[in-house]
Amino acid sequence: MGTVKEAKLEQLEMKREAYQLIINGQRMDSSSGETFTTYNPATGEPVATIAKASKEDAEKAVEAARHAFDKGKWKLFPLNKRARTLNKIASIMRSRFNELVELEILDTGKSLSAAQGQVMQAIEDFEFYAGAIVGHRGAVNNVPGQFQNITEKEPVGVCAQIIPWNYPLMMAAWKVAPAIAVGCSVVVKPATLTPLTAIVLGEICIEAGVPEGVVNVIPGAGSEVGNYLVEHPNVDKVAFTGSTPIGKDIMAKASQTLKRVTLELGGKSPSLVFNDADIDAAVDGSLFGIFYNTGQSCEARSRLYVHEDIYESFMEKFVEKAKKLSLGNPFAKETHIGAIINKGQLDVIDGYVQSAKEEGATIALGGKVANVEGYENGFWYEPTIITGVNHDMKVVKEEIFGPVVVVMPFSDEKEAIRLANDSEYGLGSAIWTTDYARATRVSKQIQAGIVMVNCPFSAFPGTPFGGYKQSGFGRELCIETLDLYTETKSIVSYFGNRPLNPFGV
Ligand code: NAP
Ligand code: MG
Repeated sequence: MGTVKEAKLEQLEMKREAYQLIINGQRMDSSSGETFTTYNPATGEPVATIAKASKEDAEKAVEAARHAFDKGKWKLFPLNKRARTLNKIASIMRSRFNELVELEILDTGKSLSAAQGQVMQAIEDFEFYAGAIVGHRGAVNNVPGQFQNITEKEPVGVCAQIIPWNYPLMMAAWKVAPAIAVGCSVVVKPATLTPLTAIVLGEICIEAGVPEGVVNVIPGAGSEVGNYLVEHPNVDKVAFTGSTPIGKDIMAKASQTLKRVTLELGGKSPSLVFNDADIDAAVDGSLFGIFYNTGQSCEARSRLYVHEDIYESFMEKFVEKAKKLSLGNPFAKETHIGAIINKGQLDVIDGYVQSAKEEGATIALGGKVANVEGYENGFWYEPTIITGVNHDMKVVKEEIFGPVVVVMPFSDEKEAIRLANDSEYGLGSAIWTTDYARATRVSKQIQAGIVMVNCPFSAFPGTPFGGYKQSGFGRELCIETLDLYTETKSIVSYFGNRPLNPFGV
């Protein structure tokens, strides 16, 4: 195990100096000369040194993006040419697939299979929007004869795009691809913990022929440069993925300049397993639903409700299979579960589990920091299943963002729906049933942006991703996203024979 890890680090050592800001098509150090270090959560070892953007750099990036948008050619390019450029980005990413996967694993500690799937999806996002943009268009509307009304979709302008640490490259792709597809310019602010792949994506955009200033990447502190972008009068839109408290802060601050805002925030997504479900499929899907990406997913199905008739048989299989999940070398194919992003998050997770114990819940599996051989200095938590819970408990109400699931029985469909909707969040949800009528009925009543019916995942390029309630608003990964990066312009024309004289003077 050690050798794989060391080899990877050695390889990266050679690339270290390359992690700079990208502003106006140039790689550069920060104006202050400051840098910061990222650490591999699996080992605790340093991964790379990165230029740390200051407000001054954020200002330069906004100026570059503004200039590119107001004076540059990107938004005037024929659609096919922009589409070709997006496809070129995808093809360069494909040719650097292994490098992107490796960087993502080193920066996040996630497992190989998770990183591979996410890098592949990031590539496909660019391909999807290369196709989608060609069909994105305005409308001809019904107006009285002799008038004509068309609507055009115009790019919204300069977009600040603020990225979380849990899916660093995929979230960057979800934001950059649709924005530049419609002709916007972007300033990307990656998470401080995981900036590497977003920086490489910025380099790839330039290599693919995106003009200077259209894609800028400024790793730096959220409270400093993130906030600066949110308040900047020359930024037209903020697209944010991250925690609900920061999302609220961003929305309040962005209101001062009436920026367009889209927010993809936290979740506490429910899974409902009915007594007519295929139990094995529900067990496998629910395991993946919570433990994928080490539970550090906004749409993690972290509340599991199982019909009382099948509760015991379901739980027996669920716990048995959870025991088989392996933690360890993230680069190994056999590893199911990677590391926790850092010590702070590890403590948060353990704090929640301790609170559940204090409130009288039962730990059916796990419940403590994991000791992973060879990775003693990394941050690991045992896959954890908690039973004997109720809706007053913190572990049931709050987002934990770790490999921890709470399980409760229910007695009928009505109760299941009530429990599922009893949350301030509304991002994902899952229904396990073989009754199509029930699946349809329950889907309609769930307050969530996403319903997965007998399905362990939902995020394909083309499927809308986003939340109800305090999980945010706006949708990413779909055609509708293009509308959220555009303004609608209505053009009304008169083609009558006689000039109009509405005042009659
Ligand atoms: P976070 O603390 O909210 O940070 C997200 C991003 O915002 C980071 O780039 C962060 O920069 C930046 N930021 C922090 N404070 C800021 C401020 N005052 N102004 C502007 N930007 C600021 O979230 P996180 O800890 O990275 O990610 C975990 C959370 O994201 C979870 O709650 C999860 O549910 C949510 N999430 C949601 C989705 C979704 O699609 N709905 C997807 C993934 C994650 P720094 O890194 O420098 O702090
Ligand atoms: Mg944070």
